[in-house]
Amino acid sequence: MATYDYDLFTIGAGSGGVRASRLASATGARVAIAEDRYLGGTCVNVGCVPKKLFVYAAHFREDIADAAGYGWKVAEPTFDWPTLVANKDREIERLGRIYERILSNAGVEIIDGRATIVDPHTVEVAGKRYTAERILVATGGSPVVPEIPGAEHSFTSDQAFYLPELPKRMAIVGGGYIAVEFAGIFANLGVEVTLLYRGHLFLRGFDDDIRSFLADQLCDKSIDVRFNAPILGIQETDGELVVDIGRDREVHVDAVMMATGRRPATAELGLEGAGVELSERGAVIVDEHFQTSAPSIFAIGDVIDRVALTPVAISEGVAFVATQFGGTPTTISYENIPTAVFSQPPLATVGISEHAAHNLYGAVDVYTSTFTPMKNTLAGRQEKVLMKMIVHPETDRVLGIHMVGPDSPEIIQSLAVAIQCGATKAQFDATMALHPSAAEEFVTMRQKRSSVEADRLT
Ligand code: FAD
Ligand code: NDP
Repeated sequence: MATYDYDLFTIGAGSGGVRASRLASATGARVAIAEDRYLGGTCVNVGCVPKKLFVYAAHFREDIADAAGYGWKVAEPTFDWPTLVANKDREIERLGRIYERILSNAGVEIIDGRATIVDPHTVEVAGKRYTAERILVATGGSPVVPEIPGAEHSFTSDQAFYLPELPKRMAIVGGGYIAVEFAGIFANLGVEVTLLYRGHLFLRGFDDDIRSFLADQLCDKSIDVRFNAPILGIQETDGELVVDIGRDREVHVDAVMMATGRRPATAELGLEGAGVELSERGAVIVDEHFQTSAPSIFAIGDVIDRVALTPVAISEGVAFVATQFGGTPTTISYENIPTAVFSQPPLATVGISEHAAHNLYGAVDVYTSTFTPMKNTLAGRQEKVLMKMIVHPETDRVLGIHMVGPDSPEIIQSLAVAIQCGATKAQFDATMALHPSAAEEFVTMRQKRSSVEADRLT
């Protein structure tokens, strides 16, 4: 039998790679992990964590304004971007050290540098070769910038976390998670934001009512939301950037952020040479146990291009280890994954949209509720909440829950447990309300309508 330097060699110390490596090591396996940029990967360094810190920072604008209605007299607030960036950097460094400690304590060898696959059992990092019985590709993804004239004048979310100063005016291109989240962040930090989305309504794939409700809420704030605005080019003229959005329309700004999607990080990794099949988008193709077409090579996380969320990458890592090192073949379910867009107000959802439910089951029952949260009354804030529940008319099972409003990510995370357990509408109705809260609305919804047949927008 061949002997290898390691039982597992992981490429990429992000959300998935770190969890898989330390769990594998805990089974007694000899594990190494290669990382060429930062421990913790995208989520910790240029994703979920700094993003959420920025969301908190941005929301203070509204919190401070709202305080006046409650009797607080606050001097005109000022905001200092370099302080936020420096404090965020310090926190990220702290987390990086924690990741290093977690891996070392777990007995995982950390190898600094960019790894390439030489053959199905060999990885090379900085000119040194390592052999392993199994190789786990957990290299994540990277931002995609459309190939348009002047694209070099734009930046992506990777740089957004490190801007030397805040521009006065910014265009944010895209209509996905990142575009919508950063539009809220920069707008509340005082930047004049224009959100440019090529389609007729952003956040494709989310429930339509939720999408249009959020669009209205953002327009009510200071964000200039433009739909049907494809980006055709960027020109630098007289110290400003002119963005061409077609039909003789232009947007004049000082900075352009591209939030136009991410692609799996598989370039120049040596995958094809080792017999690993890739999809058209460059994602590693894996089976339900995360095994590639090369039997000793596995892949998890954003690089397999299924659901690009941290908890999903972690769950895939857990299932991979259980299967390969724990003797328990394990798969994961991609149903009922709760997710949030940390816009301002945030949007959160679990289960399926009205449109998807209608397509699957025919007419379904739909419950909605729109109201002004109590906190906004004295604050004089116009922002409203939308809650929506999709119910199977025969089984009474709740198929989807959607919300736009303060604390929606926290509320939906808890309700995801109920959905996961197959809760029925009757069980929601039988649950005692917690008063006064916004979440109580989910157990007091009584007005139902039937789903609309064809999605108007998707
Ligand atoms: P990653 O975390 O990307 O880790 C991959 C690692 O591999 C990186 O550290 C990279 O440097 C390393 N690497 C790549 N190639 C090599 C190589 N050849 N050799 C050595 N190392 C290599 N998800 C959420 O669930 N909630 C959120 O709020 C959220 N917010 C986000 C905000 C932003 C701006 C972005 C960009 C993403 C966000 N995500 C969020 C998505 C989340 O960050 C990813 O789904 C998650 O990080 C994927 O984990 P991963 O292990 O697959 O890859
Ligand atoms: P998304 O795939 O979510 O959105 C990309 C957006 O860019 C879409 O609106 C897409 O439009 C648009 N787009 C794509 N190409 C072009 C183009 N050439 N010109 C104009 N617009 C274009 O990607 P993100 O970059 O926002 O985020 C990547 C992933 O990271 C997310 O899907 C999510 O999985 C994860 N993430 C999760 C977060 C969270 O959990 N809160 C936060 C941030 C990221 P169209 O819809 O028409 O295709």
